[in-house]
Amino acid sequence: MTTSTPASDGPTRPDGTEYADVRPESQWQSELTPLEYHVLREAGTEAPFVGEYTDTTTEGVYRCRGCGSELFRSDTKFESHCGWPSFYAPLAGDSVVYLEDRSLGRVRTEVRCATCGSHLGHVFEGEGYGTPTDLRYCINSISLTLEPKA
Ligand SMILES: [Zn+2]
Repeated sequence: MTTSTPASDGPTRPDGTEYADVRPESQWQSELTPLEYHVLREAGTEAPFVGEYTDTTTEGVYRCRGCGSELFRSDTKFESHCGWPSFYAPLAGDSVVYLEDRSLGRVRTEVRCATCGSHLGHVFEGEGYGTPTDLRYCINSISLTLEPKA
C-alpha cells in the first residue's frame, strides 16, 4: 500500500517556527533515494512487513534518515504486529512534531521530525497494547537509521 499526503505546510513547524534544517526540495531529491524521498518528503507510507526495522530488537538509537537527529530509542520499541516499527514514546518530547492528517477519510496524527520536518509515520492512541503510554508511534523503517549501541 502506498498512500501519499503531499506536504502543504512548507518549511515551518505546526507552531509556526522554522525547522532548524531546511533544504531545497532539489537537494532532498539528490540526497535521498526515490523511495526515501517519497516517504520522508511526500509523506508516503512504506509497505507493511517489509521495512528493515520492523522486527529489529537491536539495542540502540534510531535517528532521522533525513537529518540524523535522535528520534527514538530501542527500549521504547515494542512488538505491535502491525507491520511497521512501533514505539511507545519518542526519545524526547521535542524531537518530533505532530500534524493533523485528514487523508484516508479519517483524522490521524502525523509524526514528523522536529528538526527537518521529514515525515516519519503516525501515532495512534488507546489501542490497548499495554505499554506505559498506550500510544503507538507507527514509524516507517525507511524514515529511520538505527545506530546500534557500541
Ligand atoms: Zn530529521
